[in-house]
Amino acid sequence: MSCIFCQIVKGEIPAQIVYKDEDLVAFKDINPQSPVHILIIPRRHITNLTELDEADTELAGKMILLAGKLAREMDIAESGYRLVINSGREGGQVVNHLHLHLLGGRQLGGQLG
Ligand code: C5P
Repeated sequence: MSCIFCQIVKGEIPAQIVYKDEDLVAFKDINPQSPVHILIIPRRHITNLTELDEADTELAGKMILLAGKLAREMDIAESGYRLVINSGREGGQVVNHLHLHLLGGRQLGGQLG
């Protein structure tokens, strides 16, 4: 099964990568919904939020901490931003590799779905 985000992690397809370390990769969303739209993903293939377990506690924490760090670097920390994880079909997840959306740089709407 080929996963498009696994291919990005391996460098097999291009992406505008803004951060990487031994656990995580962050890149610009190909179809940005706001001036800043970054996806933070684990290198390891994890299908969605439900597939995380207790052994992934540090990984999940790292994803959220990285979002805050990137928000500061992208200069949206003060104005504000939003983190979104879509999980599963009705949650609106299209790519089945866990990803955290970091959205900002404009006034975001108040509706949650
Ligand atoms: O949460 P959801 O699965 O709906 O989001 C998938 C996101 O992955 C979309 O925002 C889409 O634009 C992005 N994407 C990307 N690069 C790809 C394929 C999808 O940034 N090659």
